[in-house]
Amino acid sequence: MTSRTYELDRAHVFHSWSAQASLDPLVITKAHGSAVWDDAGHRYLDFASQLVFTNIGHQHPDVVEAIREQAATLCTIAPQHANDARSEAARLIAGLAPEGLDHVFFTNGGAEAVEHAVRMARLHTGRIKVLSRYRSYHGGTATAVNVTGDPRRWPNDYGAAGTAKFFGPFLYRSEFDATTEDEECRRALRHLRRTVELEGPATVAAIILETVPGTAGVMPPPPGYLAGVREICDEHGIVMILDEVMAGFGRTGAWLALDHYGVRPDLITFAKGVTSGYVPLGGVVISRGIHQTFAHRPYPGGLTYSGHPLACATAVATIQVMRDERIVERSAQVGGEVLGPGLRALAERHPCVGEVRGLGTFWALELVSDRATKDPLAPYGGSSATMDAIAAACRREGLLPFVNANRIHVVPPCNVSDADVAEGLEILDHALRLGDAVSPD
Ligand code: PMP
Repeated sequence: MTSRTYELDRAHVFHSWSAQASLDPLVITKAHGSAVWDDAGHRYLDFASQLVFTNIGHQHPDVVEAIREQAATLCTIAPQHANDARSEAARLIAGLAPEGLDHVFFTNGGAEAVEHAVRMARLHTGRIKVLSRYRSYHGGTATAVNVTGDPRRWPNDYGAAGTAKFFGPFLYRSEFDATTEDEECRRALRHLRRTVELEGPATVAAIILETVPGTAGVMPPPPGYLAGVREICDEHGIVMILDEVMAGFGRTGAWLALDHYGVRPDLITFAKGVTSGYVPLGGVVISRGIHQTFAHRPYPGGLTYSGHPLACATAVATIQVMRDERIVERSAQVGGEVLGPGLRALAERHPCVGEVRGLGTFWALELVSDRATKDPLAPYGGSSATMDAIAAACRREGLLPFVNANRIHVVPPCNVSDADVAEGLEILDHALRLGDAVSPD
């Protein structure tokens, strides 16, 4: 029996990134902490944090109360006026960024943040070209999808004027035939340096990278890589943009993922975890140098809802909760002591797990049919019956991981409990047998 909500959804809602006819959405009626419930009362552990945004879990009472209070005081005010919630959110967010980045341009989400970061870089340098890596995701709008490296770009790419791609470091499937992290790092930097030289350094406005690429497979960069990118940018006057939309706000066990690498970009994009997704918000944190470019020259861009008070009040409350409850520290601890070791133990038991990667509450299992050849259980950018069956088995047993091509992304809320991790790992343990069944190991 399907509910009226389900029927109305199928009749009238057009869903993102999907063939509309094949959809079978869960009807979610309730959520709390790391779990959601459907309309039949089934509980699911949300190990996708929805789309990797409920970093403090669902329905935190302090944030719900802050939204209520802000709605009662001042629901909305246009960007040209100043407002308590916006000023405070900007202060707090800039305070998390490295020294020298102290202004925030607010957007409604991640793609808009990328659009504006790229626009700022182009206007600041007077150059057009933007370099980005394959195996990256930066958003679904025009420029953001053009700088995206993953296959979602393919059908949206009308020549991608003003962009070029390079290979980032990814030792498991090294493009450089490297066998150690150090080698991968050095070769990836040499490749990027050559790409810049051959594209024409004086035409390159920006290099944009996810600090830790997320959607494309959770690939923490080797030590020294981001510092090396910074050097290349400095040599040629190129703006370095770090995309922290998915990796920021506690996800990696640091406030910003860049904290792990001691690197200072010129622009930082953020969204998702900044409000735990309770109200949409994103933005760009801007260096003094780029801010200066627009001190006496108008910035030609804006959004009706830039710095929306309801969203900014949500950000202020979310950051406060993260501080009070030490959620960033919890993310690091659960990753290091419970989730990471638990996933590695699964890899030992299941030959279909080719690699486990991650940090904090940001993990992916790369599934293969053969560990020696690393043949993926679904093609790059595609799906397969086995991966679909694994996802369905998880859902049947009450777990919602984020499944993408041949990967299972395990990204629970940053404050997930040990008990919830144990329960989720047990369900994964059962589901992965379906992957082993097609493995020749
Ligand atoms: N950048 C990164 C790194 C992302 O992961 C995403 C979303 N998954 C975006 C940008 C786009 O954000 P949004 O969907 O909020 O526009």
